[in-house]
Amino acid sequence: MKPETLAAQALHILDPATGAIVPPIHLATTYARDAAYQLIGPGYTRDENPTPVHVERVISALEGGAGALAFASGMAAATSVFRAICKPGDHVVAPRVGYYALRGWLDRFCARWGLGLDLADTTDLAAVRAAIRPGSTRIVWVETPANPTWDVTDLVAVGELAHAAGALFAVDSTCATPVHTQPIALGADLVMHSATKFLGGHSDVLAGVLVTARADDTWAQIAALRHDEGACLGPLEAYLLLRGMRTLYARVERSSRTAHSLAERLSSLDVSVRYPGLPSHPHHAIAARQMQRGFGSMLSIQVGGGSEVALAVVRKLVVWVPATSLGGVESLVEHRYTVEGPTTPTPSDLLRLSVGLEHEDDLFDDLRQALER
Ligand SMILES: *Cc1c(COP(=O)(O)O)cnc(C)c1O
Repeated sequence: MKPETLAAQALHILDPATGAIVPPIHLATTYARDAAYQLIGPGYTRDENPTPVHVERVISALEGGAGALAFASGMAAATSVFRAICKPGDHVVAPRVGYYALRGWLDRFCARWGLGLDLADTTDLAAVRAAIRPGSTRIVWVETPANPTWDVTDLVAVGELAHAAGALFAVDSTCATPVHTQPIALGADLVMHSATKFLGGHSDVLAGVLVTARADDTWAQIAALRHDEGACLGPLEAYLLLRGMRTLYARVERSSRTAHSLAERLSSLDVSVRYPGLPSHPHHAIAARQMQRGFGSMLSIQVGGGSEVALAVVRKLVVWVPATSLGGVESLVEHRYTVEGPTTPTPSDLLRLSVGLEHEDDLFDDLRQALER
């Protein structure tokens, strides 16, 4: 079946006890044994709870994976990969442009545990090749499109480089979503999502997921780490996430269409626009090959000048909400430079836009009036 159908019906799993078409929230943390002292269902919620398991089945199906694990946050999902797989002396390659909190965590984690870390421009194959150390690189991590410039990494090409060196290839696909890109089909071993963003879609649940291409030893190590350390998704959060995922295709196709149109209309104003769907974007050709059904719901504009000019624009906006995060039904604007601080590579005049489900004209008119000097 097509992914829209799988998502809308949450895999058509009916509650066997009642026939309910909405899966129940299983709040029990513990489950009884039968007369032979065998477990009837799951044992304990840190191992397995039917509500997050349902989420895992749906996202695994949408990504074409062999299995998925739900985590308490996107960061819990991402850090679990490094923590489960790497040991002192190993080396990892991560993107120079990408989710800021993960880069900061990797710096501290690698320094503390004696791991080598190279931050590379993953859109530059020569740079990736130079960063990889065959024999010691365990993980090549990429994010595409990447925060906040929406750089697009060629997954097939970087995956081949990683695999040739014996490294695991992991992709943060939060901003692509399974609607636009399926990294496993392009060679990824692991796909990570901050489900807090588009998968949940309503800015009301913190969650993360990993999807694997194979149920192998590496995957078992990650599952064991989650089991041992307990960074699992609770059933209430899992329910909200499952509910959000039912409308994933309708939401993302719509917000991405609006983002594309806004990117084009903003290009006629006095700002520079970064959006992978624009031919002016440096990675447009790769994006066109690698992304389907549009180019995502994220774009950035550079307003010229510095922080003061950018913040003045934000103050004039009335429709766009100034807040961090992305992927919700409401459009958000963020001045990443303020949030990340002066050591960030993000330009000080850049505003990141997360496009939601409002009418395109309201979003555009608001930006136009705010950009008037
Ligand atoms: C938000 C985000 C994360 C972190 O996810 P949390 O759910 O906030 O822990 C990781 N990667 C990307 C691209 C994100 O946008």
